[in-house]
Amino acid sequence: MSVSEWNKACHRISKSIINMYKLFLLLLPIIYVFTGCDNKTSDNKQTYQQKVEKSAANNDKKISKPENDVKIWMPYSQTLDKAIKSGLLWLARHQNPDGSWGARSFQNQCKNTRCSGVGDKQFDIGLTGLGLLAFTRQGYTIHSRDVYGGINFGEVVSKSAHYLINNQLSDGTFGGVKEGKFMYNQAVATYALADLYSLTCNAPHGVIFKEPVERAVKYLLENQNPNKGWRYQPKDGQNDSSVTGWVMLALDAVKHADILIPPEVFIDIKSFYDDVTNPASGQVGYTRLGGNSLQGYEDTRGWVVQPTPTAIGIMVRILIDLKTSDPLIKLGVEQLSASLPAWDTSKTGVIDYAYWFFGSCCLNQYDGPSGPMNKAWQEKVKKALLPNQRTDKDGCSAGSWDAIDRWSSEGSRVYSTAINISTVQVYYYFGIENSGK
Ligand SMILES: [Zn+2]
Repeated sequence: MSVSEWNKACHRISKSIINMYKLFLLLLPIIYVFTGCDNKTSDNKQTYQQKVEKSAANNDKKISKPENDVKIWMPYSQTLDKAIKSGLLWLARHQNPDGSWGARSFQNQCKNTRCSGVGDKQFDIGLTGLGLLAFTRQGYTIHSRDVYGGINFGEVVSKSAHYLINNQLSDGTFGGVKEGKFMYNQAVATYALADLYSLTCNAPHGVIFKEPVERAVKYLLENQNPNKGWRYQPKDGQNDSSVTGWVMLALDAVKHADILIPPEVFIDIKSFYDDVTNPASGQVGYTRLGGNSLQGYEDTRGWVVQPTPTAIGIMVRILIDLKTSDPLIKLGVEQLSASLPAWDTSKTGVIDYAYWFFGSCCLNQYDGPSGPMNKAWQEKVKKALLPNQRTDKDGCSAGSWDAIDRWSSEGSRVYSTAINISTVQVYYYFGIENSGK
């Protein structure tokens, strides 16, 4: 072989090597995608608990800052913080070993003395959601490491989220459609999981909640009454301002988790509240125009009927329109101001934890943490709730609130405690969404 022939041969070989390298570079992304798909397939075969444990292990390396620092809207208050922590500890102590909370089964967890105030177990899924919410609204997630009274609050969150997701069916319901007031359960459980997902969606482990939340939301949207809202059963043609208000809170939490909801959904919700809102007084009805009554019989029994639907109606309008200039809102706020929270046990219906919760959400949105309406309301809430929370001298019930309000006979001490914690938390963690217009 001559020198020139040798040089040509070397050139051809080196050109072939370069071409092969170029081909390898071109194929690299495809190889990577296929490898990734394999990983995803094996990941899908893992149980929810395995995914949690795996992501927890990853997360330990990546995030050192506790996640429950994420949102604080009010200056720190030692009194409120103590009330919230001791309420959460009562919930943690009365959580069932499977992660749920029950209207009757909470008593199985009592130590020494038995807490009073059982309710209707048809609400156990909703109570599990409400219990979980009390923790997530405080910023606790499955990775929180705060231990109180020997209980890790991160584990409480993990167990309850685990319970809901493991009971979720392919249609998005948590355990299937049941008779009775089923949609309360669906709305509150969806709200809780969406709130948890909104806290964790930017962390590596948050992705495990995405699909269950999307499935639960899809169910709610598929079962919205045409041009209206929701009541107890899926798409039953009936609407009430209470169930629809809980669904609205769930959809609002979903929005913060960057899951898109079609705008028509909110147009239809508002259309329902328009139907039941008196334009002259701003009063919002329960299922129809006129009357605050949430059940048919309170008026005839002489119970005090609080303007809960009005509080919910205003909250919904602000969350949808992100402004407070609507004259219906101003009229409604006047009704709330005329019926401020008070711990008066002499007349049935004055103590109404749901009214205090929705009123707090509503007025906090209306004029913000330092607005006069909100401050006047907030002072009354604190005066009513804080001195009436059970303390250490009350044994097992320490940290809870007695099941003595209008709805506790259905919701139990779990309801009364979880919703009152959420009410107190409004001043810390419920972001102001109105634009100030
Ligand atoms: Zn107890």
